[in-house]
Amino acid sequence: MHDILNKVYSDSSDSYYIKLSKYLDTNTKKFIITANPETIMIAKDNKEFKKVLKSDVEIIPDGIGIIYAAKILKIKLKERITGYDTMVNLFKLANQKKKSIYLFGSEEEVVQKSVDKIKKEYPKIVIKGFSNGYIKDKDKVFKEIIKKEPDICLVALGIPQQELLINKYFDKAKKGIFIGVGGSFDVYSETKKRAPKLFIKLNLEWLYRLLKEPGRIKRFYNNNIKFIAYVFKNRKNN
Ligand code: UDP
Repeated sequence: MHDILNKVYSDSSDSYYIKLSKYLDTNTKKFIITANPETIMIAKDNKEFKKVLKSDVEIIPDGIGIIYAAKILKIKLKERITGYDTMVNLFKLANQKKKSIYLFGSEEEVVQKSVDKIKKEYPKIVIKGFSNGYIKDKDKVFKEIIKKEPDICLVALGIPQQELLINKYFDKAKKGIFIGVGGSFDVYSETKKRAPKLFIKLNLEWLYRLLKEPGRIKRFYNNNIKFIAYVFKNRKNN
């Protein structure tokens, strides 16, 4: 766990967004992974995913669990940088710089609504294309993405599918910021609500999601309760 947490971006979200702006200005190719307890727990059992995390990717601290785990393991991390906020910042930057994007993932209606909202809110963004995430041949979509060379590619297929797919094609891309954004299109399209500001401020976004989607309880247990035990085990062993 130390090896992954030591790689996580440890400065402020504002400084990270400046970095993103520079990547776009210089056409720097980047693969960004948003880390939360689920990321660590999946990496524990999935060798391929672990290898991706250890490769030349940029990891940002999405979940509050990562911040707490780092504290317990005496690794310095300044604050959360959520996948959702990163996506919205990428929209702002892309609009300012007239950059292009591709959206891949979520239900057809959700991705369509997200595209419509982007067109309205960020009219200078060039939409290179989009696809829902339930299409059978996901490789075909990715091959099209590589051909179209978007400046930003957002992949909302859920962890680890989105990261494994990006990893498979990343070497073939000439440029672009590639990031797995999980359920962010669901929120941006207003299909699902993000937690109220107070929940976010109190770092209780996870609780709101659990109350809204009780079906996630097993996933929550596997990825968060077990994660706490795993963090303490790691502390003991170091
Ligand atoms: N999804 C998809 N194709 C699939 C499985 C999932 O497009 O085969 C989408 C799903 O519709 C949702 C996103 O992937 O928009 C994953 O959302 P989830 O809330 O699980 O992600 P989280 O934010 O928790 O990582």
